[in-house]
Amino acid sequence: MSLKKKIATAVATATVGLAATMGSVAAQAAPTYVTIGTGGQTGVYYVVGQSICRLVNRGAKDHNIKCTAPSTGGSVVNINAIREGKQDMGMAQSDWQFHAQKGTKHQSFIDQGPFENIRALFAVHNEPFTVVARADSGIETFDDLEGKRVNLVNPGSGTRGTMEVIMAEKGWTKDSFKLAAELKTAEQAQALCDNKIDAMLFMVGHPSGSIKEATTSCDSKVIPVTGAAIDKLIADNDYYSTATIPGGMYRGSDADVTTFGNAATMVTSADVDADTVYHVVKAVFDNFDRFKRLHPAFANLDPKKMINDGLSAPLHDGAVRYYKERGWM
Ligand code: GLU
Repeated sequence: MSLKKKIATAVATATVGLAATMGSVAAQAAPTYVTIGTGGQTGVYYVVGQSICRLVNRGAKDHNIKCTAPSTGGSVVNINAIREGKQDMGMAQSDWQFHAQKGTKHQSFIDQGPFENIRALFAVHNEPFTVVARADSGIETFDDLEGKRVNLVNPGSGTRGTMEVIMAEKGWTKDSFKLAAELKTAEQAQALCDNKIDAMLFMVGHPSGSIKEATTSCDSKVIPVTGAAIDKLIADNDYYSTATIPGGMYRGSDADVTTFGNAATMVTSADVDADTVYHVVKAVFDNFDRFKRLHPAFANLDPKKMINDGLSAPLHDGAVRYYKERGWM
């Protein structure tokens, strides 16, 4: 076959192939794409998002929804991406769900004013505010972080936002630390074990891959987060409560560690279509036993609590439809 003929044949084959593909796509309605913003890849939000998408995508032949859950900068980034219409849904700490709706506490929320269209779907696991320090750092209590090399985590993460809330309560600024790093949560375990920082922070569900990595790759331990400033935050804000990181869960921390925490929640916007929201919520709760098995932090979840606790924004209409069908409302 001449070269010219070969090219002509190749083009003809490609055209037939393309026509066939277009034919099958045209026969089906275009899928609805849903994106769920998560957090760093070693956190629990990423597992929540991936798990939900897996359940949604299993049912794609019924509802034609395709779900993706990319890694993101965390709670505040997710809420702002939803507000801008760049993401449909996302994971967010209950404190930042509250402040987004009111337009308070976080500079980006204050600048934009109340996010009136924020809607809640459900809460998931509890997230204790977690501090891990190198064993050789001399850090035994939360107050010992002063003057040390601390990763405050990337701006836009819920962890960073909540750390700034604590810092304001304690009268600390970035200058209170020898180093105030801004590494992403997925980078901090290695930085800790490379001795680039003395302590890392993560408001995260347990067990967490990130805390496992930090406590197994080098000698480090989980530090209590207690004291007058923390007591005041718990007393003043419904979304915070005392929390415990169980002893024995991580190497170097055999006893229970007391801290405070809030709930991980999933949020969306009133602008997102009710049918889409209905199918995402249905995928989770129709397959709830399967969902619970996807991460140990989900083991004790109870649907009736999940649709109440930690939710300050109104529930989305599509979620309400499903919860009513189930007789939960
Ligand atoms: N609560 C964390 C944040 O918004 C994320 C936790 C996770 O990735 O599991 O910064």
